[in-house]
Amino acid sequence: MSIREIIRVPNPFLKIVAKPVNIINDSILGLLDDMLETMYNANGIGLAATQISENKRVIVMDCGKVDFNQDDMTEEEYNDKIKNIEPQPIKMINPKIIHLSSNLTEREEGCLSIPGYNAQVKRPNTIKVNYIDENKNDITLEADGLLATCIQHEVDHLNGVLFIDHISRLKREIILRKAIKEFTTD
Ligand code: ZN
Repeated sequence: MSIREIIRVPNPFLKIVAKPVNIINDSILGLLDDMLETMYNANGIGLAATQISENKRVIVMDCGKVDFNQDDMTEEEYNDKIKNIEPQPIKMINPKIIHLSSNLTEREEGCLSIPGYNAQVKRPNTIKVNYIDENKNDITLEADGLLATCIQHEVDHLNGVLFIDHISRLKREIILRKAIKEFTTD
C-alpha cells in the first residue's frame, strides 16, 4: 500500500468522466487499498480514483467516525468516542446511483481536492446505489444521512463534478478564486 498524491483544483483531471472497470484484478484491488490509505492519511471520509489521477470508476469511503452528532460533545468526549470505533471502510467499483429520494437535506461538505473550503450543499436524503465490491459481489445498498451524501459526492467525482458545482455561481467563484490562488502559490 502507498499514499498517493491527491490532486487539487484547478487540475483539469478532476473534470474527466472516469472509465468503468472491466476486470477486477490485483491492480484494482491494490488501487483500492492505496486510495483508503491516502484517504485516512488526509483525514478524509471519501476519495474517488480521479482525485489521485486514476481514470477508473472506483471510490472508497469511511463515514464511521463522523456519522453522529458532535455538536454537544467536548473534544475529549469526541476523542473518547471515536477511539472505540473500528474502521468501516467501503470500497465501490463501478458505483451507479439507481434511486434518489425527492426529499432533500442540506449538509456541510468539503473535499480533499479543495482542502480548507466548505459549503452547505443540498442533496437527496436517501439513495440506492449499485456497485461491485472487492470480492466481486454485486451489491445494492440503500443509504441515508451522511453516507448518502458521501456516496453522491464521490460518484460525482467520477463524472467530473465537484461539490461546488451544486452551490450558487457566486459562492463557487469565490471559493475557486481563493483556493486556486492558495494552491498555485504553494
Ligand atoms: Zn471530493
